[in-house]
Amino acid sequence: MEFDTIAAIATPMGEGGIAIIRVSGPEAIAVVDKLYRGKKKLSTVDSHTINYGHLIDPQTGERIEEVMVSVMRAPRTYTREDVVEVNCHGGLVSVKRVLQYILKYGARLAEPGEFTKRAFLNGRLDLSQAEAVIDLIRAKTDRAMTIAMQQVEGRLSKLIKRLRQDLIETLAHIEVTIDYPEHDVEEVTQQFLQEKCEKVKAEINRLLTTAEQGKILREGLKTAIIGRPNVGKSSLLNALVHENKAIVTDIPGTTRDVIEEYVNVRGVPLQLIDTAGIRETEDVVERIGVERSRQVLEEADLILLVLNIAEPLTEEDEALLQLAKGMKTIMIANKTDLEPRLDTEALQARYPDIPLIKTSIKEEQGLDELEQAIADLYFSGAIAAGDMTYVSNSRHIALLNEAKQAIDDALAGLEMGVPVDVVQIDIQKAWEKLGEIIGDNVSESLIDQLFSQFCLGK
Ligand code: GDP
Ligand code: ZN
Repeated sequence: MEFDTIAAIATPMGEGGIAIIRVSGPEAIAVVDKLYRGKKKLSTVDSHTINYGHLIDPQTGERIEEVMVSVMRAPRTYTREDVVEVNCHGGLVSVKRVLQYILKYGARLAEPGEFTKRAFLNGRLDLSQAEAVIDLIRAKTDRAMTIAMQQVEGRLSKLIKRLRQDLIETLAHIEVTIDYPEHDVEEVTQQFLQEKCEKVKAEINRLLTTAEQGKILREGLKTAIIGRPNVGKSSLLNALVHENKAIVTDIPGTTRDVIEEYVNVRGVPLQLIDTAGIRETEDVVERIGVERSRQVLEEADLILLVLNIAEPLTEEDEALLQLAKGMKTIMIANKTDLEPRLDTEALQARYPDIPLIKTSIKEEQGLDELEQAIADLYFSGAIAAGDMTYVSNSRHIALLNEAKQAIDDALAGLEMGVPVDVVQIDIQKAWEKLGEIIGDNVSESLIDQLFSQFCLGK
């Protein structure tokens, strides 16, 4: 396939330091050469070298920028095309100006995701790897990043290919049975098919169970901070946000009645929700506070239940404890700097499965322990990044479910003794659905839709 030459700013907008403009396509080197003045013409430098020089306006001779230019010739590049990366120091204005020159002298502005789309279309990445690049761009924490990286390296693809291989063997076996019906192989066939289908189904199930974790890692654990008024919910939220790297997100941070913040606590992405706002602004009666908490609780992955250690348990505390029971909860006995009136030992004895952490947010005590408890809850062997294949992409999850359904149909057919050529159709369908995950059988429009999700310059 023959492509034109595209260009875009490849570094985040508005950030200081160096900005990179990426140019890819058959004319990439020639286009930048029209503007570049250095020791050598870029067309004569070795591949995979960085070259110092200046960009000048070819008409006026005016210097535009001092630059370092990387030249990478096809095919050992991200897009498998000639790629030139122009590193400029200047701020946003000068970077945009350089881009304008590059566009004026022969490149076209890349569409979002077009570099990665080319990597895919030129056979450099398969579809699930390309999608992982989307996830990578959006990854909110280091751990989510690791998982996305593994996918880029093709872990999921490898597994899917293996499953498809199993299905192909099954299909081949059926072909033989159909072609040589005189052989009395029905019995053997039945068992062989059943075993293969069960095996593939088990693998798909395993992948699907990782899907939920994958989703959590990408979007953050919905973490509800609950407790009656004045126990320190807002203080806790603020402390967690200040202590930890707040996660940049395009999701609006503040809604009318609840406050939400995204933070990364020891590798666990949390979407913190303070349910207090509604009470403090509207001063509603206690019962409504519990009602509201109940709603948030239903959606929460993790509950931080804040208590005031300086006061005995109240009825509302008890009500909240009852609500939180059976969910992933951490009790926080706050205000340890004050005279204690809450029997934390008795409380822990009543709820032995719920960790209880003592804090004084005012004096910055106990926050480390709290963060450790949060991390323990989620990484105590439950999620061991590095040795699992995660599925976290909703398109993959949907396709896995469809493939599983087809396998189930095949198994049901085998059970009922329907002719193998009918079973064959279901198995083939499963094979196709798995294929769609790695980009076999995908229609052009699906590809366009997927790649348009990318940021510009990737
Ligand atoms: P919320 O209503 O649960 O959100 O509670 P706030 O976070 O608004 O805190 C209520 C009051 O308790 C504020 O005056 C805080 O400064 C105070 N507070 C919060 N944490 C502590 C603590 O650890 N010790 C003490 N002594 N006061 C605290
Ligand atoms: Zn508050």
